[in-house]
Amino acid sequence: MSKQRLVILGGGESGVGTALLGKAKGYEVFVSDKGKIKDKYKEVLIHNEIDWEDENHSEEKILNANIVMKSPGIPDKVPLVKQIRESGILVVSEIEFAVNYTSATIVGITGSNGKTTTATLTHHILKQELAVGLAGNIGDSFAKQILEKDYPNYVLEISSFQLDDIVKFKPHIAVITNITPDHLDRYDYKLENYIASKFRIAENQTKDDYLIYDADDDILTKWLQEHPVQSTLLPFSLVKTIENGAYLKDKNIIITIDNNQIIMPTTSLTLEGNHNIKNAMAASTVAHLLKIRKQTIRESLENFQGVEHRLEQVLKINKVQYINDSKATNVNATYYALESMDAPTVWIVGGVDKGNNYEELYSFVNEKVKAIICLGVDNEKLLKAFGNMVDTIIETKHMSEAVKIAYKIAEAGDNVLLSPACASFDLFENYEDRGRQFKEAVRNL
Ligand code: ADP
Repeated sequence: MSKQRLVILGGGESGVGTALLGKAKGYEVFVSDKGKIKDKYKEVLIHNEIDWEDENHSEEKILNANIVMKSPGIPDKVPLVKQIRESGILVVSEIEFAVNYTSATIVGITGSNGKTTTATLTHHILKQELAVGLAGNIGDSFAKQILEKDYPNYVLEISSFQLDDIVKFKPHIAVITNITPDHLDRYDYKLENYIASKFRIAENQTKDDYLIYDADDDILTKWLQEHPVQSTLLPFSLVKTIENGAYLKDKNIIITIDNNQIIMPTTSLTLEGNHNIKNAMAASTVAHLLKIRKQTIRESLENFQGVEHRLEQVLKINKVQYINDSKATNVNATYYALESMDAPTVWIVGGVDKGNNYEELYSFVNEKVKAIICLGVDNEKLLKAFGNMVDTIIETKHMSEAVKIAYKIAEAGDNVLLSPACASFDLFENYEDRGRQFKEAVRNL
């Protein structure tokens, strides 16, 4: 019998990982990327004798596939993808392809904000007692890890794009951190399509599987009421009592699963902010389900150092705390950043606006922000939204200048917060570049 042909669209981390796994499992593999494949990935493909092309899509070769793995960055509206689907070829995402080759227990974490933080924190707790991999949108691809390490447990950070092309994939424990409008350009500008995509994380679950979710999130809970799932539900909440799941009582997180309770003080959490209490609730609920000892969970929450670019404490200079929240690329993330500020704040904001509605930030800006520095090519919307709210609002197109201005304005006891609420592509390569430039500018003060 001739080999099955696996075509991979996109030669990035998930594409190359899938190529390696596919080859090892006996497929004839072809990787095709319309853009340029990075040298480090080219080397891997060449070294492993995997057929590839970049800056081109050879349609004939692609349409000859038995199965196509589409990388998450490629939108469905690309004509070639339409053509592939129309010719009846099965299109899957990396997680769908890879999960066939592992019998590991899978924790899948999705949501609009907090995926990386929650996945990293969950992994941090679990790894104290279990052999566990961290994959998905983080680090080495899931496919590559299955091939090289094959852990008995995985924590996967899963974007909606990865969920769009699943068929049978199901995590044993799913987490939806929250749902706020994001990436709507990929969902025909329809919020319901985006919500449905997130909920696909639970579509193959049965009552033996768990869905952990934010019970304070109206979009999420309304959807769940109208579209029930089979999964056993474990909600978490900051404001109401939860019988099975997690809630907050007198500054303690209380998690109950089948009458087995764990209590953890929020005062000892290293991460700041209400959103991080929620992330801690979700991660600890996973750990509690997987029978991690209570003491281990408590200690892990106390020594977790957080993730770079997410409310990252950079330096204290002249009693002013500098905070890098470059990953806040939407208003909701910045909402939680401003909420968590415990001192007058000089706020650096701006970038590529994604149709932002700034109204939900007004009360925090009134209450906590003493000056605004707009760091973007087009700041008009920010000036209009906040111009009347603070005495000082300044525009700049350079990170070093933004930080110097902040330094001049801030007084002892203040915070300087970079939390842009916007994408970074107008002035920076990506949010990491923006965050690094911020930290460098702070260190140069
Ligand atoms: P994601 O991987 O979903 O983008 P991250 O953990 O990288 O999420 O965090 C992205 C941004 O959202 C950061 O600015 C972070 O401070 C903020 N954030 C983290 N957790 C939450 C949450 N539960 N709700 C809202 N914002 C959050």
